[in-house]
Amino acid sequence: MDMHATAIPAGNDGGPEIAGPEVDEGMQQCLQLLVDAGLRPTRQRLALGRLLFLRGHRHVTAEILYEEAMAANNYLSLATVYNTLNQFTEAGLLRRIAADGIKSFFDTDTSVHPHFYLEGEDVLVDVADGLTFNRMPEALPGHEIARLDVIVHLRRKRV
Ligand SMILES: [Zn+2]
Repeated sequence: MDMHATAIPAGNDGGPEIAGPEVDEGMQQCLQLLVDAGLRPTRQRLALGRLLFLRGHRHVTAEILYEEAMAANNYLSLATVYNTLNQFTEAGLLRRIAADGIKSFFDTDTSVHPHFYLEGEDVLVDVADGLTFNRMPEALPGHEIARLDVIVHLRRKRV
């Protein structure tokens, strides 16, 4: 049997910027992800799921995702994008990270891990390594520590 080339030839596959109702491998993968999470695979969820889950580990705001959806010819309202992000979060597909009190980022890596937040640039990235804590506080009576969220805020150095 022939081995299929893994590289997709340029030009004749529709391209990632053209979002259509056609079912390709990415769409199938996305559909399965939604179904496994107990979500009905609506057109809107599929369109946004495609942008979120097929591009590796991502940190997005609703505004970023909204812009991407528009660029991919998926005309959804910002409110729909917000609602869908919240539904994905409730279903365990995303983790919400409140970086600055106003804006939430949505992380496609739902594990607990520390982040850098670039103030003034609206960028959230993972801290690769080098963060250790020697001691955790005792939880309050009747409680246990659920997780430790760490956001290290960065700003540009003045030169
Ligand atoms: Zn992250």
